[in-house]
Amino acid sequence: MKQKVIALFTVVFAVCAAFAQDYDVLVAGGGPAGIGAAYTAAKRGAKVLLLEKNGRLGGAAIQAHVGPLLGGVKSPITQTICSRLYKGGVDFQKLDLLAWDLLQEAGAEVLLHSYVLEPLMEGKRVTGLKVQCREGPRNITAKVVIDATGDGVVAAAAGVPFEIGRKEDGLTQPMSIMFTIDGIAPGKRVGCGSEEAARQFKIQGKSWETIVQEEIAAGALPPEVGVIRLYGATVPTMNIVNATQVNKLNGTKSADLTKAEITCRKQAFQVLDVVRRHLAGYEKAYISGMPAVIGVRETRRFEGVARLEKADCLAGRKRDDAIVHSANFCIDIHNPAGAGQAAQQETFVTGEAERVRPYDIPYGALVPKEVDGLLLSGRCISAAHEALASCRVMRIAMATGVGAGAAAAYAVQNNIELRDVPPQKLKLLEENGK
Ligand SMILES: Cc1cc2nc3c(=O)[nH]c(=O)nc-3n(C[C@H](O)[C@H](O)[C@H](O)COP(=O)(O)OP(=O)(O)OC[C@H]3O[C@@H](n4cnc5c(N)ncnc54)[C@H](O)[C@@H]3O)c2cc1C
Repeated sequence: MKQKVIALFTVVFAVCAAFAQDYDVLVAGGGPAGIGAAYTAAKRGAKVLLLEKNGRLGGAAIQAHVGPLLGGVKSPITQTICSRLYKGGVDFQKLDLLAWDLLQEAGAEVLLHSYVLEPLMEGKRVTGLKVQCREGPRNITAKVVIDATGDGVVAAAAGVPFEIGRKEDGLTQPMSIMFTIDGIAPGKRVGCGSEEAARQFKIQGKSWETIVQEEIAAGALPPEVGVIRLYGATVPTMNIVNATQVNKLNGTKSADLTKAEITCRKQAFQVLDVVRRHLAGYEKAYISGMPAVIGVRETRRFEGVARLEKADCLAGRKRDDAIVHSANFCIDIHNPAGAGQAAQQETFVTGEAERVRPYDIPYGALVPKEVDGLLLSGRCISAAHEALASCRVMRIAMATGVGAGAAAAYAVQNNIELRDVPPQKLKLLEENGK
């Protein structure tokens, strides 16, 4: 018995010791960008550890019930990951486990419940991360750190300059709680996922948009809930609902997040009431899934060596220094100041988001100015407010992670600075890129 206890302690000690070792690449955050980064860097031979503060991988999709998977991109690696993770849509119950299996197969280590506090720094170089593990704070060193925290927690603490919000007033896109409703009568589920769809979908001659506006006028809904978007889900009697929102709050501040959580959770029940009263087959609908945290669309956008501009997206700019090829999603700005979508744009009259042409994202948008040893990925890359409104969606966010993972592995293996990595040599248009 005594020997078994000693053996068990030896194994536990060995596992702990392994985590205390240096890594080639540390990935902070386990959302689409972090998964893409850890998978690609590990597949390319780097020793990788991904750190996630919560108990599940998947990022906003898992924590904030965000779906469907949006955005186009020319990236066979992203395609491979997506085909494993999002089979038939975003499955909120399974996505994290599928991601876990994928990362295990790739050879990346993962630590959940590990909150990244700040970078370890030597001058202007990031040399690792200070992490709050459940057992206490721990310093973990690495040759490269990839910030995939969405909010850019590492980059901000490393002193990389950033902007928040749109140029004129610093307001960001609103935060929202997406939730699921179930209990819809079989065959009665409504699909109505955009402003345009809300205008087209009619109940006894009246559009869904008009019905929602009348409910706002009657005080049953707050004015910020300008549209109730109903998406399909993996279960046929279920909708994912995208309707709640709060404006003029900052997703990097606890007091603002607290206000946002409570406001949107209350809105969700108001939305349920409207849906039950107006949609046939929804009389017994109920909220089946309220996410753990609110969805944050936009916070810090860091200063990189290069920046993705709105004009690049509209013109479909192609580049020699591309790290993401042919990204494709409209400039989807949810109104920072009130209800609706695509405010401040010429097309606001019709509520339609501006279309883009498939554009490339430059590698420099992942390389922070002045700080070494660090790459940006996901929704905190260097991009203008309008450009981020396109490249923030999950498939494109993941592709930036894939690019960061490939660049990190290349820098480690060739013993060069991240800013000297030639993106043309990363073979990102090949499946394995080896
Ligand atoms: C309401 C809403 C609706 C949306 N709708 C869609 C949609 O329909 N389709 C679509 O494709 N996209 C949609 N998006 C956009 C998309 O979800 C995000 O932009 C995308 O998930 C960004 O990916 P990411 O990996 O950069 O960040 P995230 O998905 O936010 O992942 C970041 C991860 O880092 C972790 N993390 C953060 N801080 C720390 C820390 N200090 N230590 C350790 N871990 C940390 C977080 O827990 C999280 O797991 C929506 C977003 C919102 C908010």
